Amino acid sequence: MEKIALYVHIPFCKQKCFYCDFHSFQGIENIMDRYTDALIAEINRKAHKYEIKTIFIGGGTPTYLHLNLFEKLLKCIGDLKLCEDVEYTVECNPGTLSNEILEIMKENKVNRLSIGLQACQDNLLKVIGRIHNYKEFEENYYLARSKGFSNINIDLMYGLPGQKVGHWEESLKEIVKLKPEHISAYSLIVEEDTVFYRWYEQNKLNLPSEDEEREMNELTHTLLKEAGYEQYEISNYAKPNRECRHNLVYWNMEDYLACGTGASSYINGTRYKNLSNLDKYMEAMENNLEEYEEVIENSREDNIEEFIFMGLRKLDGISEEDFRVRFGATIDEIFSDIIEKHIKEQLLIRENGRIFLSKKGIELSNYVMSDFMLA
Ligand code: SF4
Repeated sequence: MEKIALYVHIPFCKQKCFYCDFHSFQGIENIMDRYTDALIAEINRKAHKYEIKTIFIGGGTPTYLHLNLFEKLLKCIGDLKLCEDVEYTVECNPGTLSNEILEIMKENKVNRLSIGLQACQDNLLKVIGRIHNYKEFEENYYLARSKGFSNINIDLMYGLPGQKVGHWEESLKEIVKLKPEHISAYSLIVEEDTVFYRWYEQNKLNLPSEDEEREMNELTHTLLKEAGYEQYEISNYAKPNRECRHNLVYWNMEDYLACGTGASSYINGTRYKNLSNLDKYMEAMENNLEEYEEVIENSREDNIEEFIFMGLRKLDGISEEDFRVRFGATIDEIFSDIIEKHIKEQLLIRENGRIFLSKKGIELSNYVMSDFMLA
């Protein structure tokens, strides 16, 4: 049986955060029931032919689903053929974890939680539109630990409006004290179609300067390294052997099946994007129709580009042998000039059959990666 990673998308949030452009909505709780049934129909139709090696239920806020629906979904996933050592993550928002929901997760084999905290200062949480405060996060975190969850990720974000270097330092230090197994530290990107984008255009977003942001980035490396976290991807840090295996599937360009509205699968070199329109998605699933918003058969060039872009996000970069096996050509046959140029600029390093970004290269990763475009 072929092994695959499974992503499951829950598009509900209690309130939309001001920076968020994910496919998620507030105020549509009335369709939770119908959506869950449609999602279960899709999972049952597509996932039984695989053995599932990792699962990630994301969104949106999966833990915002009504408890009975959440349990129904987890039972459906639990009936799939899961690998013995499956990594099974649920994304949670602080303030949404209770005894009941944690017990449901435990009973249904969830073994990893990813908690979106973002910052430790209540005023900053408010500025970015989060609905929880730090205390609620801490209570939820300890509750999860007391229920035996021994693999927890915490998401943090820097470059926030009004955030000073001192705030970021405080957030990192506070979180490190809690000893989560994994920390994601993203810098804020102001995306179109968000409240922040509107404010940005109106010059109302008081973002940190480039220098401050660079300092925050530096602090992240230093403090997390001191605390025993290994950076293994541009924005991700883990204790030994606690890297997120599900995300590594994306970065290694392995196959994954994604269920839910707007979710994209990648199977045998083809991308299948599910219907983003909620009504159309639910209707298609209810009628057992295999309908997609887009099906794109990646060209060899697309696959090569994606392999490089995704691979260079990892600190250990790209394996030259993997490249050769996948594409039937050595990486030098296609990119020797570019590789040489960036090695000279000390942005890329070539060592023991791998090519990866240097420290300076990570800072300038967009510049390096753009050179690998084939079109
Ligand atoms: S909770 Fe997560 S998915 Fe929902 S709006 Fe906020 S960042 Fe976006």
